[in-house]
This record gives sequence, C-alpha cells and structure tokens, in this order.
Amino acid sequence: KKSILQREGSPEYVFYDGPPFATGLPHFGHFLPSTIKDIIPRYQTMKGKKVERRFGWDCHGLPVENLIEKDLGLNSKTDIEKYGVDNFNEACRSSVLRYTKEWQETITRLGRWVDFENDYKTMNPDYMESIWWVFKSLWDKGLIYEGHYILPTCPRCATPLSNHELAQGGYKDVHDPAITVRFKITEAGPASKDSDMANGCTYLLAWTTTPWTLPSNLGLAMGPDIDYVKVHDGDEYYILAEARLSSYYKKPEECEIIWKKKGSELIDTRYEPLFPYFANLYNSNNGKDGTEPHNGAFRVLNADFVSTEDGTGIVHTAPGFGEDDNKIFKGTGIPIVCPVDNECKFTAEVPDYQGRFVKDCDKDIMDRLKNEGKLVKRDQILHAYPFCWRCSSPLIYRAVGSWFVRVEKIRDEIVAVNQEIKWQPEHLKNGRFGKWLEGARDWAISRNRYWGNPIPVWKCADCGEAICVGSREELEKFSGIYPEDLHKHFVDKITIPCKCGGTMKRIPEVLDCWFESGSMPYAQNHYPFENKDYFEEHFPADFISEGLDQTRGWFYTLTVLAAALFNKPAFKNVIVSGLVLAADGKKMSKSYRNYTDPALVIKQFGADALRLFLMHSTAVKADDLKYSDDGVRDVLKGILIPLWSSYSFFITYANIDNIQCDGRYFSDGKTISLPDNPLDRWILSITQKMVKDTTEAMDSYDLSHAIDPIVLFIEQMNNWYIRRSRRRFWKSENDNDKNEAYETLYASLKTFALIAAPVIPFLT
Ligand code: ZN
Ligand code: ZN
Repeated sequence: KKSILQREGSPEYVFYDGPPFATGLPHFGHFLPSTIKDIIPRYQTMKGKKVERRFGWDCHGLPVENLIEKDLGLNSKTDIEKYGVDNFNEACRSSVLRYTKEWQETITRLGRWVDFENDYKTMNPDYMESIWWVFKSLWDKGLIYEGHYILPTCPRCATPLSNHELAQGGYKDVHDPAITVRFKITEAGPASKDSDMANGCTYLLAWTTTPWTLPSNLGLAMGPDIDYVKVHDGDEYYILAEARLSSYYKKPEECEIIWKKKGSELIDTRYEPLFPYFANLYNSNNGKDGTEPHNGAFRVLNADFVSTEDGTGIVHTAPGFGEDDNKIFKGTGIPIVCPVDNECKFTAEVPDYQGRFVKDCDKDIMDRLKNEGKLVKRDQILHAYPFCWRCSSPLIYRAVGSWFVRVEKIRDEIVAVNQEIKWQPEHLKNGRFGKWLEGARDWAISRNRYWGNPIPVWKCADCGEAICVGSREELEKFSGIYPEDLHKHFVDKITIPCKCGGTMKRIPEVLDCWFESGSMPYAQNHYPFENKDYFEEHFPADFISEGLDQTRGWFYTLTVLAAALFNKPAFKNVIVSGLVLAADGKKMSKSYRNYTDPALVIKQFGADALRLFLMHSTAVKADDLKYSDDGVRDVLKGILIPLWSSYSFFITYANIDNIQCDGRYFSDGKTISLPDNPLDRWILSITQKMVKDTTEAMDSYDLSHAIDPIVLFIEQMNNWYIRRSRRRFWKSENDNDKNEAYETLYASLKTFALIAAPVIPFLT
C-alpha cells in the first residue's frame, strides 16, 4: 500500500493479473508466474513508477461446478436439476472462495506484493454486468452467431469444449477398435457404366475407428482422383482403393481385378443402410412436408480429404459426428442426424443402445455387425485421442448447437495487434502464439451449464425473435425488473414481452469462463458503467505474465476480445513461463505425491531460495523446469549463504573498527574520488557492470539475462574481492587503504541489495 501511496502522481505502470481458479491450493505451478508477476512490478516501482496490482479470482465454470458436484454427491446434470439450480448455484457461490485465505497466506509468504483487499471476482454483479456489455458490443458488431458445429464434447461435464480448451487437455495414446465394414450396393452410380454392381453381392469396403458412429452413417466418401478396383473374392465382389489392396490381400498381384475406376466415376453409387434407424432417409424427399428436399442419403460422395494412407480409401461418413463429414453434406438437403445426448449417450432414435455411453457400445455394435455378416476385418489401432482438460474423460465429437464469436472474420485484426506485443521469449510471438492465431477458428462460447455468467440473449418461442441485453438497466427497460444479481437462477425468471404477443425467455446457456477472464481489463473496472477515464488510462496493460499453457487460454482470449472491441492488444509486454514438473520429469500430482508441500519448502529454505531457484532457470524462457528440493538447497548453499557471509564479514569488522561509511563510492552519478587499490577499482567496476546488464535485461523483460549478473556478482565479490582483500580489513590501524576497502565493500553491497531486491526481497 505504501509503495503505491508514496508514488501518488508518478507515472503509472499498468499490470493485469490473470485470475486463478480458487478451487485448489496454490502450488509450484502458481509460484513461478507469481514470482515473475512480483519481480517486474517491484522493479518498475523502484524505478519510480506507481504500480497498482489487483489480485483476481476466476469464480465460475466447470472446475467449480465439478468440485461442488463432488461435495454434494451429484453425478449428472439431471442430479443438479433435481437438486435445484438455485440451490446448486448458491452452493457454488458460498464455497468457491474456500481457499482464498490459504492463497493469501502462501502468496504473501512467497514475498509477492499484491492487493488482495481490492481484488476482482468474476462472480461479482458489476464484473458480470461488464461481461454483458462485452457480449452486446460483439453482438452489435455482428460477431456473435448461433450455429451448429462439430465440437468435442465431454460426456462427464456434458458440455462442448472450445478449440483452445481442447488444446489444453491434450491427447493420450490409446487403443481403439479399427474395423472394416462392407456396404451392399443397391444401385450403380450413373457414371460407373457397371450395372452389375447392383447384383446383390457387390460391396463397398469402409474403415472406421469409431464403430459407435456407424448407426448414424449417411454416406461413403471417395477421393475423386483415387483409383478404385473391383475385386472378385469367392462369391462376392469388393470395391476398395487399389493402393490399399495389400492391406486386405496377402498376394494382391494374384487378385482377380474386374475393373479399375476413379472415385469420380463411382459418385452416387447407392448402398443399403447398415442399420435401420435412419433408413427412411434412403428415399428422396420432395420437400412437400416443409423440410428441405433431398435425393436420398446412403450414396457415394466425392471428397478431397479422402486419402489412401490407411483403411480402404473409402471413408464412412456420419455428418453428425465429424467435421469433414459435416462439410460434405452441406447443401445436400439431407438432415444431419445426431442421436446422442449431452452426456454422449444414445437417444431414443437408436433404441437398441439407448441410454448407453457411445464408446461403451463399440463392442456390441461390432458383434452385431459380425453376426449379420457385415464385418470384414477387426483390428486395433494405437492413436492419439483427445481428453477433457478438467476431468480427463475421453471426448466425443458431435454436432451441437452453440453460440460463437466470429474469430475467423476478425483474424487479420487479431494477427495485426499481436505484432504490437513484445513477447518474452520472443519466438512465441510468430511461433506458437502467432501460428495459433493464424489458424484460429470461431470460438464456441456457450456452455450448457449453471454456475456461470448467463448469455444475455432473450428469445421468443413463438416468432423466434431474439434480443441481446447489455446491462441491468436495459433488462429493466425491457422487462420492468432490475436484477441485483445476474446469475442464471435469478435472470432466467425474468421474461420480456415480444412484439408478436408472445413471451421472450432467456436462452439456457452460460458463457465460457475464458470469455470472462479474457474480459478482465473492462470488467475489473466495471467499464463502461463506471471508471471510464480510469479505464482509458489503464488499457492496454504494460505487463502480464502467465505460463505457456495460456497461449491458448488467457493470452488468447484477452487478445481476441481486445482486438474485437478496440482493435488493440490487451497487453504490451508478456513474460511466458514454462511448466514446473516434478523431479522425475512427470507432471506434479497430488496423487503421485511426487513433490514436497510448497509451504514446507519455504519453511526449510526460505522464500528467497525458492524464488531464485525458479528465476535462475530455463523456466523464465518458457521451458519446462524439473523442480527438486535439492535444487532449492543448492541455491541456498551456493548463492544465498555466500551472500550472507559477505554481508556478515563486512558488518562484523565494521562494528569492531567502529566504522561509519559515508557512501562516497555509492553511485549516484556524483562520485568524484576513486580508491587507489586496483582490487577496489575492479569490484566497483564489476558492480556498475552488473547494474547496467541487469537494468538493460529487466527493461527488455529478459529475466534470464537480468539474474545471471546478480548470481555472478555474488561469486566475484566473495571469492575474489573479499578473499583477496581480507587482510586489509584485519589491519589494526584505521589508515586510508582500510577506509577505502570499507567504503568499497559498502558501496558494492548496497548497490547489490538494490539491484537484487526485486528478485530476493527478504535477504536484500
Ligand atoms: Zn470433462
Ligand atoms: Zn415473438
């Protein structure tokens, strides 16, 4: 507080804090960015800047909901709805901040100066209202739309995940079935010139690693330029890519090939549905029932994504479950079937497997196909499969209704504002982050959940008219009710009369919590409802820092929203830290017990030792760091204790000799005299070099080069200057040489203390 009050009226340096989830305790992974977030503001403060540092809390979203579900013994969305959304949300509210006291204690013990009293919380009504303003601003700019998308869905969390969440969860190598299925041809394609294909014993062979999607098959995709062959095999004929023959026949050269044709010649070949569930789509639809007309599903389509790298060169296509599949059906008029609910269980449309998790049905589906003579080959494949970043459930790709931000439309602007940001390490700018931006997709921002910021859209069930509400006052204007609280269980009760005479109700979804953390520059100030001038003077931030995983998380959402709203970056400088791994190179995990309790580490070695260990490592260059207690002990023994010895040496003899140093060599730009002894001149020169090197590196956010000189200096002072000068301090007479030695060591130690203070604040 004092460091800010003392600088009233000084130029400001703007820092934004990325909010952690308050649902867990702070661990080493938080200490690393926390230390960086302390060092840079301390440094800028010492340079005379006023640096406000508000702590933030991410209060909404699945992490909180999962925790409360566990507490309350609820296992599904149905359970939550039975328990009552109001009860559930209030339970979330009352315990989301359960660990804030521990956080405050630990972060303070680590030596981080940050304002916990004036913190921001994403669940506060003012914060939430600013989010509504952000959403409405995007809505007014035409950047919000409702659509269908093939999105990875977590069966446990029962909600789709956005692409950057997908990137966060990661892929694991798993075994899945890989099966080849035969589809009986019913009608030859007009370009094939082979009416024999409909003889009742000719089949198209297709390959899939997701047997559970076969009941939803509506087409088979072939590459237009790929060569396909018809092979005579016993009493039957099989069609597959020529290049894949060797995977199905031991001696392909001995196969009896009836013909070879391009995929483009086989288009519109029709086949019998494998399952009965959607067989009604086989027949064409003239559109007289009001639905879109189409020529009938279950036919061969041409697509460029088909390859001959694996399978048969013929791709089973279920437009409800695959992005490519979905694309090739666009414009055909054939309705997308997606007989799977939010929890990725089959719906009543597929009665044989209704209520069962889709992946659990793989085996039964394969057995059934085998019994019906439709399964040609059954293998296993080891491949990378995506998992939920929160609960580690395997993700299921499926078509879902969702609300989107049109990121692709403003991608050029986003890429351009990134060029204004200074990244440390620099390669992230056009590397990992820049590449991610260039390939950025529309952002799915709705979640079918409860404890979050409700999407402020009201829709009329009668006429379909929708309006977006941008503030509490606006909602009062439309509905007559001013909501004090904006959570779902309050605003869902508010309806708005529609012009058509019907009633508008809020859509059920809440916002992705990354939308909320990405809006913190506006929402923490309740902009634009309050603090307009203050916000304008404090945007964008001079500095932020988080871990590498945030290139697809917070760094990304901050940048997308700032570009969309103001065509500016949200921050000017960023230091990206690496991940902290356990000593064995594995992820730190409570269940593995592969790391020491951080509180004990600080107790044993001191916060400075831990800070210097973390900062004097490759982790400040966004590389992984293997944490070990030994590493912290080494810093204490090899760097901090020698530093303490230097100070101790100085103060012991200065007290014995009753010396009062006057600071004559203390650099304030006015030093006039210099000592005679070359050792003194040397260490003063070394001291100034450290000041120069560290300052330059700090100014370019290069912590690695800022801290190396500090560590080197301790070694030079101890092992060279003090060791070579020791006898000069032992002399019984207080002569000129002795005085100059004291003044020199005093100047060096004091200068060092100032330079190193942001890094090791306790000892300095
Ligand atoms: Zn999940
Ligand atoms: Zn209406």
